Amino acid sequence: MPTIPKRVYGIDLGTTYSAIAFINEHGKAEIITNSDNERVTPSVVFFESENNIIVGKIAKESAKTDPNRVVDFVKRQMSDKDWTFSVDGKMFKPEEISSFILKRLAEDAKKTGDHDVQDVVITCPAYFGDLERERTRQAGKLAGLNVIEILDEPVAAALNYGLNDDAKGKNVIVYDLGGGTFDVTVVSIGEEPSKNEIKIICTEGNHQLGGKDWDDCIVRYFVAEFQNQTGNNANILEDQETAYDLRFNAETDKKMLSNKGKITRKVMFEGDKAIVELQREKFDEMTAGLLDQTFALTDKVLEEAKVRGVTEIHAFLLVGGSTRMPQIKEKITEKYGATLGVTPVEFDVDEAVAKGAAKSGEINILQQAANDGTTKFEEMTQEQQKEKVEEIAEASGKTEEEVLLAVKTKLKKVATKSYGIRALKGGQPIVRNLIIKQTPVPTKGSQTFGTAGPNADEIDLVVFSNNESEADALTEVSEELGQAVFPLDGNLPAKAPIEITFELDEQGSLTLVGLDKMHGKTITANFKAEGVMNEEEFNVALEKQRDLVVE
Ligand code: AMP
Repeated sequence: MPTIPKRVYGIDLGTTYSAIAFINEHGKAEIITNSDNERVTPSVVFFESENNIIVGKIAKESAKTDPNRVVDFVKRQMSDKDWTFSVDGKMFKPEEISSFILKRLAEDAKKTGDHDVQDVVITCPAYFGDLERERTRQAGKLAGLNVIEILDEPVAAALNYGLNDDAKGKNVIVYDLGGGTFDVTVVSIGEEPSKNEIKIICTEGNHQLGGKDWDDCIVRYFVAEFQNQTGNNANILEDQETAYDLRFNAETDKKMLSNKGKITRKVMFEGDKAIVELQREKFDEMTAGLLDQTFALTDKVLEEAKVRGVTEIHAFLLVGGSTRMPQIKEKITEKYGATLGVTPVEFDVDEAVAKGAAKSGEINILQQAANDGTTKFEEMTQEQQKEKVEEIAEASGKTEEEVLLAVKTKLKKVATKSYGIRALKGGQPIVRNLIIKQTPVPTKGSQTFGTAGPNADEIDLVVFSNNESEADALTEVSEELGQAVFPLDGNLPAKAPIEITFELDEQGSLTLVGLDKMHGKTITANFKAEGVMNEEEFNVALEKQRDLVVE
């Protein structure tokens, strides 16, 4: 029996705020408060000096005085292959910036006890593709962590909810509106406690939609009101300090509007002053379009769920800090209350994701321990299973009941994107999807191609992902992931059949396999999503971090 880590940490690496949790000795997920005594840490990084990096509250405040040394919303850049942040003559990629946030969370966790912070589960939005997931994993590695899983945020939230007794046998819609992203997912929670099954039916999302967009509406309102009242038509957002103040105040005011009917704010620029009032009704009206965007995706996911046999929804779960805005609950009740027969409920709004991730981490290591021998747990006799559970309980410090529940828990996920290759249809380039979005994972899809000419020594394919549910998608709506090169023997005739298979695992990782059908020979593709650091680049990034202190 290998040693089982005593603690696995769950990290919600959020766009605006991040959180870290673990499972305590009573089997409950617990959030770790940071050194500012807060349960969430702003995902903001401040390069205070060449060697000193500050993450969190102080970094957020520093954006006012040192905007060029502060990075926020870096999660929105994870899909941008070319984005870098330059400071002190150095360039940092999104995964490097993210690694500083992870380091800070790990440091805070270390301070709470004598536990080493090593094994972690990090969450990401469900619709993050291969590139963003791999970058998130590398961010963890750069932070010196052992990333045992990259888990979808809605899966983590559902897991946190689904392990409650009153969730059993329910179909749940998880509406997760965070600071920068929106996810909506239909989940089915198994009835039989012994099975403890949590099944993702389908999921939709928009990673450019979140609380920040509500803040931006307030900022625009401040600017327009300032111009109206003062007649000063300068674009006050061009002044960095003023822009910072307005954005910072907009978030504060938005939160206040969750509890009050009205806010008043002084806006000053170039000696001109405006007193701006904002009523909650007006705020709701200004942001109605944003809410509608979330509802369009919610409708879509409910339709998808129907197609997949889930016609009844038993619970409407609200997750993410932005669901605290009263308009969300009100409008959901108005729109879906009657049709679905459910009222939205808040459940661990800020903490569900980190807690679910910690739970998943625990399940993961206990399942690994149960299956690490020559016989898989499921194939063991009852007697062997009992012995194994006793053994794991002793090694892990968990009760036998907890071990059994974890070992039997099944998380069933779906593909959150379609994956395909460039092909020609009627002479036009299209993307032929081999894996279709919302298919349960692990899954695979194949297509056979003929080699172009005789004695070809390789087949080159361009790999894409998209959000389409059809076999064929337009290249314009697809994102190019990279090239896959299949080396061939070189002695094949023209049109020799080569079968290409895409395999997508439960972690969302894509593997490409080729088969030379004439020789029955498997060809291993050399495929890596473009934009992911190779070993050399990773080592350079690691070296760059050597002299940096993160606090
Ligand atoms: P999360 O990514 O789940 O941590 O959510 C962060 C987002 O929730 C940010 O945009 C916050 O401004 C927003 N938020 C947190 N508390 C409130 C509140 N009381 N009212 C409105 N928005 C909030």
